[in-house]
Amino acid sequence: MQTRSQFAIPAPPVPYLPVRNSDALFPVHRIYCVGRNYADHAIEMGHDPARELPFFFQKNPDNLVINNEDFPYPRNTKEVHYEIELVVAMGKGGINITRRDALDHVWGYAVGLDMTRRDLQNEMKKVGRPWEIGKAFEHSAPCSHVAPVAEFGHPNAGRIELKVNGEVRQLGDLGQLIWKVPEIIMTLSGLFALKSGDLIMTGTPSGVGAVNIGDLLQGSVEGIGELNTRVVLG
Ligand code: MN
Repeated sequence: MQTRSQFAIPAPPVPYLPVRNSDALFPVHRIYCVGRNYADHAIEMGHDPARELPFFFQKNPDNLVINNEDFPYPRNTKEVHYEIELVVAMGKGGINITRRDALDHVWGYAVGLDMTRRDLQNEMKKVGRPWEIGKAFEHSAPCSHVAPVAEFGHPNAGRIELKVNGEVRQLGDLGQLIWKVPEIIMTLSGLFALKSGDLIMTGTPSGVGAVNIGDLLQGSVEGIGELNTRVVLG
């Protein structure tokens, strides 16, 4: 391959998240998402939730919205849903990472919103087409500061919550995750070559719903941080 000394057009900026209690920035490589990973009701009722293989999709790294920035209501939709999620920030990559080694690859955790054009996603589900238009649109990934493991540790349990205009709409506990973080990393690294800078959104508890322009979304994960964004006219 020919050596090139400069890009033909200006190179796009590196997407990033701020780091909690630091001026450092966490550079983002890819954003993976896990589908359907909580079983709130089954656990409340004392059942062992049926374990299905987790499934994955991706958002684009430049879909990130930094904490306290606005979420512009997207085009081509009448039904945009919030999904509050714990986000894993990978410090080391790899393929076929074992469950035992998985947590050594995690640099930190964040609070994220997997914003979804639900109407478009549902249409795509119906006809068996990919989910990108429902999931990977501009501003679809608001995300908090990254809380480094070195300072905040690994959260095994703790409250995960989303308020809309001050009212709790989603409430769960990380202990309810069907597939835990090590299992997610193990499975995902069998399918993709994970890299440092990858983010993994780990799925949402029950209570998802539609947003309206003007809504204030306030997410939190106990011990990790908070995420605020306001829905504004797109
Ligand atoms: Mn989700």
